Formats: sequence, C-alpha cells, structure tokens
Amino acid sequence: MRTYNDIVVDLVRATSDPVGIVSDAMSMTMKDFKVGDKNRFAKAIGSVLDMGHTSVFEHVQYSFTILGASRSFLAQVTRHRVGSFTSGSQHYQKYSGYEPVVSNAKFAERTKAFFEEAVFLYDGMLAEGWSREEARQVLPNAMANNLLWSVNARSLINFFSLRLCYRNVLEMRVVAEQMHNLVVGHFPELFAFVGPQCFNGACRQGKMACGRRRWEKGVL
Ligand SMILES: Cc1cc2nc3c(=O)[nH]c(=O)nc-3n(C[C@H](O)[C@H](O)[C@H](O)COP(=O)(O)OP(=O)(O)OC[C@H]3O[C@@H](n4cnc5c(N)ncnc54)[C@H](O)[C@@H]3O)c2cc1C
Repeated sequence: MRTYNDIVVDLVRATSDPVGIVSDAMSMTMKDFKVGDKNRFAKAIGSVLDMGHTSVFEHVQYSFTILGASRSFLAQVTRHRVGSFTSGSQHYQKYSGYEPVVSNAKFAERTKAFFEEAVFLYDGMLAEGWSREEARQVLPNAMANNLLWSVNARSLINFFSLRLCYRNVLEMRVVAEQMHNLVVGHFPELFAFVGPQCFNGACRQGKMACGRRRWEKGVL
C-alpha cells in the first residue's frame, strides 16, 4: 500500500519565458507597446497581482503530472474547472494494479484487510465476466491514480489561494505544496508572492479558521 509520501508531482511542460510573455501582455495594453521589452514591465508583475489584473498570467501555461494521489483527490482537484485533466482509466484497463494510497503506515496497517478484500472482490468480478466499468464500483476512493493537469498561471493563483489553506485535507496540501515549489522555481517573480488567503491578507475562513496566525510554507 502507498502513502501520501509516495505522491510524485512533476512539472513536465511550462511556458519557456514567463516574465517575457507577461511583460508582452502588459505592454499590449499601451498604445506605444513594444513586444520583447521586459525591462519596462517585469517589475510591475507584483503590482498587477495585487491589483487583481491577473488575466495577463493566463499566457503562462503549465502541465503537471501527479502520480499516486487517490481517486478522492481526483474528485476534489477536478472541481477546478479552469484547466484540463487526463486521468487513469477504470474503463479500459484492469485497475487493481494501482494500489490504495492512505495518509501513513498506521492507517495502512489498520485498513490493509479491507482494501485487500475490496480488490479481491473486484478481481473476482472481472474473472466472472463483469465489465471493468461495472466492477470498478467496488473499488475504494483510496485507489491511486495518475493525472496530467494542464493549467494556466491565473488559475493556479486561485488554486493555491484555496488549496494551500490548512482547511484542506492533507493529501491536497501535499500535492499543492509540491506544485507550488515547482512554479516558484520556474516563475519566482509571480509565485513567490502567491499563497493561501492568509499569505497576503487576513484569513477569510471565519469559524473554520485553523487558528494559526499565518501560513508557514512547508508545514503540513
Ligand atoms: C477547504 C475546501 C472545502 C471545500 N468543500 C467543498 C464541499 O464540501 N462541497 C463542494 O461541493 N465543494 C467544496 N469545495 C470546492 C469549492 O467549492 C470549489 O468548487 C473548488 O475549490 C474550485 O474552486 P473554483 O470554483 O474557484 O475554481 P475553478 O472552477 O477553477 O474556477 C475559477 C474561477 O472561475 C470563476 N468561475 C468558474 N466557473 C464559474 C461559474 N460556473 N460561474 C461563475 N464563475 C465561475 C470563479 O471566479 C472561480 O473562482 C471546497 C473547497 C475547499 C478549498
């Protein structure tokens, strides 16, 4: 069985010159625009973020692979509609090879027998001639999945503001943290200034607030 520590997120494609294309977009708003003039606009990236004029960040595109997160994670992450997803099929392949993924070894030990029983039932139904798309209904949410997610930088700002928040389940935060680290490395001029709501302002979770004063990166 797998745990969240086994989830691997990679940035497999990214716009090659994010500062350049965002500067071009900012330049285009002016009559005397000049494509390729990074010096004039690169320093304004933080201000544009603060002002919420974030459509210029849509020109920066990313594709991530997220390997080994669960089907429950899939249900949550695909609520983010501004982006494109491709996930492991439960229709065209036998799914028992994917293994369940849970938070930690203690949870795995407690639930091992249940997961083995569910997968045994699934395999048995396939052997009896049930279709894969019917038999999959007995598979737990915890079954691991592989995912390709293509998303632009503006949508990612929204994703991080919601999903780096401690109110999220641990699995979501594990993935969101890995993604954040990757894009901070790629486009620090923007993503070093992006975090959950409390990173740049007050928490808006009301009674559901986690009680911490401010988001601390890397503390899951
Ligand atoms: C801690 C937490 C708990 C949650 N709990 C639940 C829950 O219990 N049940 C549940 O169903 N969901 C839950 N959600 C999911 C949440 O409601 C959103 O569906 C999810 O976070 C996607 O956010 P989004 O709509 O901003 O993203 P996207 O779909 O990527 O949309 C981005 C932005 O585009 C705009 N937009 C997109 N589509 C529309 C539209 N149709 N109309 C108008 N504007 C649009 C909005 O401004 C939106 O913010 C939870 C989320 C979090 C972070």
